[in-house]
Amino acid sequence: MSYPTHRPRRLRRNETLRRLVRETRLSPDNLVAPLFVCGGEGVRREIAAMPGCHQMSVDTLLEECRELAALGVPGVILFGLPEKKDAEGSGAAAEDGPVPRALRALRRELKDLSLWADVCLCEYTDHGHCGPLGKGPDGRLDVDNDRTLPLLAKAALVYAAAGADVVAPSDMMDGRVAALRGALDQTGRADVVIVSYAAKYASGFYGPFREAAGSAPAFGDRRGYQMDPANADEAMREVAADLQEGADIVMVKPALAYLDVVYRVKERFQVPLAAYNVSGEYAMIKAAARNGWLDETRVAMEALLSIRRAGADIILTYFAKEAARLLA
Ligand SMILES: [Zn+2]
Repeated sequence: MSYPTHRPRRLRRNETLRRLVRETRLSPDNLVAPLFVCGGEGVRREIAAMPGCHQMSVDTLLEECRELAALGVPGVILFGLPEKKDAEGSGAAAEDGPVPRALRALRRELKDLSLWADVCLCEYTDHGHCGPLGKGPDGRLDVDNDRTLPLLAKAALVYAAAGADVVAPSDMMDGRVAALRGALDQTGRADVVIVSYAAKYASGFYGPFREAAGSAPAFGDRRGYQMDPANADEAMREVAADLQEGADIVMVKPALAYLDVVYRVKERFQVPLAAYNVSGEYAMIKAAARNGWLDETRVAMEALLSIRRAGADIILTYFAKEAARLLA
């Protein structure tokens, strides 16, 4: 069928028709809000490169989560800012650390909010890498994969005990999903969901997050464990491995510069898929809007919609609260 019989513009003529034939929907149900929790009381420190995002103490975090829950956002993912760091990142598994304390407070009050705990050591190591370091065969310092696994598992158990429904390993060590699944199952926590950051790229778009979470590596970079931005076939292998190890949901991170990967993962595996609309993606829109160069709301919603259209079921985004408000 071709023109003039076929006129695609007919269905675009007014909003009612457009609504009827709309293929992709964005709902608060799709959103998870990343939040940064620190010590102290009454703390709500705005992150310079992420306007509208804050480092929060447990009490102010609780307020924020009440608001998110009331807006219909089903989940939050917590990142911790510890008071002390060491070479092993032992603070990640400290029961009185910011994340377990926040989880206990949130669990007590917000029964229906899904509580996700990011599981990694980089916020807790004094060198900022995602696990303890060791010398490789070439004599260079690198993250010791196999020594990292039990430390991640230990942190996951602490978060689960404090009230996390979901643990989300973001470290990109080989074998971490199996390590977490095994540890959880052996301690009677087969109920805890694992969201694996399956295809996490070594990306420049994480810049503002590192300020937010104080987790920039003190030397080198993370290319020895995070994925090369040039690779997509490799992402398929990473996802397959994590699913085999027991991941319930897999994630692609970042989202916008990797929509092809989001699309391919969904097409190939047809499993629950999350995408992380990262700090740099958020900051770019905020910065352009502040300069009057973009319509912030319109562009932010378009970006979130594009992540859904590519195939993500769940979007982790710093726009969660604003988007949920707009969608209400
Ligand atoms: Zn990390």
